Amino acid sequence: MTQSWWCEHAWLGGDTVADAVSITVDGGVITALQPDSPRTGTTLRGLVIPGLANVHSHAFHRALRSRTQRDRGSFWTWRKLMYDAAGRLTPEMYRELARAVYAEMALAGITAVGEFHYLHHDTGGRPYSDPNAMGNALIDAAREAGLRMTLLDTCYLSSGVDGAPLSDGPQRRFGDGDGHSWAERVDSLKAPDGVLVGAAIHSVRAVPVAEMAPVVDWTARHDAPLHIHSSEQTAEVDQCLAVHGCTPTALMRDHGVLSDRTTAVHATHLTERDIEDLRSTATGVCFCPTTERDLGDGVGPAPALIDGPGPFSLGSDSHAVIDLFEEARGVELDERLFRRERGLLAARRLLEAATVDGHRALGWSDAGALQVGSRADLVAVDLESVRTAGGGATVETAVFACTAADVTDVVIDGRPVVVDRTHVDIPDTGAVLAAAIAAVMGEPKR
Ligand SMILES: [Zn+2]
Repeated sequence: MTQSWWCEHAWLGGDTVADAVSITVDGGVITALQPDSPRTGTTLRGLVIPGLANVHSHAFHRALRSRTQRDRGSFWTWRKLMYDAAGRLTPEMYRELARAVYAEMALAGITAVGEFHYLHHDTGGRPYSDPNAMGNALIDAAREAGLRMTLLDTCYLSSGVDGAPLSDGPQRRFGDGDGHSWAERVDSLKAPDGVLVGAAIHSVRAVPVAEMAPVVDWTARHDAPLHIHSSEQTAEVDQCLAVHGCTPTALMRDHGVLSDRTTAVHATHLTERDIEDLRSTATGVCFCPTTERDLGDGVGPAPALIDGPGPFSLGSDSHAVIDLFEEARGVELDERLFRRERGLLAARRLLEAATVDGHRALGWSDAGALQVGSRADLVAVDLESVRTAGGGATVETAVFACTAADVTDVVIDGRPVVVDRTHVDIPDTGAVLAAAIAAVMGEPKR
């Protein structure tokens, strides 16, 4: 079925913003794109950009927003609440919660999500009758919210860098016993249209080195993305040095984890040699500035990584905020605070990180750009809101002025998912979110 849109302005890559762009779509793919065209089809006002990719998500962490800021919000108040939520979720509750969270993402212009998923088993640590009941709940949720998903099924086996076993309580839900059992379970996952199954090693804390090979081999066999939390906090680096005598990045290098299908999430505390190892293996990195800020992690070396051969992508991780524009400018603004210097990373490059690089990191190499042959993901942002007015149709307006609230319309694979700031299938998304969060966490206290 042929469809057509007419964009008042559209970012076509680089520094090019074109006017009056007609876009023809067939079977969810852009088949023609022409600037300076007469108006035909559905009009998208404002600036149209490609779909944003949220490369690092733990959907259930959304339930902690605002609640974890009590008691001044230490790392420990956050972790306690996170484990409380992890201990309560059933597949049905998770499907409802994730559906609402993914709808929030769609409203923010996000067209693909990388779900870093480790909540596999029942509260006693036993497999559900469908051993992928939780993963399938997330797949259903993404499809209902209209997003593409890469389910990064996560191997999580130990509770410390020294290989200590998982503790009692919610951690028991994470473990598959060993890497081969993890691979066997993941092999039985079926990916419907719009879903890819990838892999994750939770971290060097959660997977002993002997168990990394089965995960790495699985991703090679399936040519699938492999993600891993890495060097987020200095304590993790210190523990790795104490136990293994090397940094987490060096440990990953020595056990074959680094490659052009790998994404190191956070990559905050790196040595020069770590940076060289990531570059020489074309390993990508995913920064999550709003979460790194919220948890007090630190600032990673973006300028040294953003021009490397691997994708430089962005994620909202703990969902303290779901706003990829904020993540994109956060990379530059955090760097300014750190260096006390301005203008280190071009707005164009930051918008590429949020779009084409992000999709590449999730295995959707045919998405994230407005060009013939790409998936038809169109995100229209308002240029006349109180935040964006006066800046004009520029890449700088998108990166430094827009917020998620400025997204008016979202088309994913040629299907309108958000129209005039409303999710077409989940119209009252705020109420749906509130109900899903209350079902997990109880009503909010005053
Ligand atoms: Zn994470």
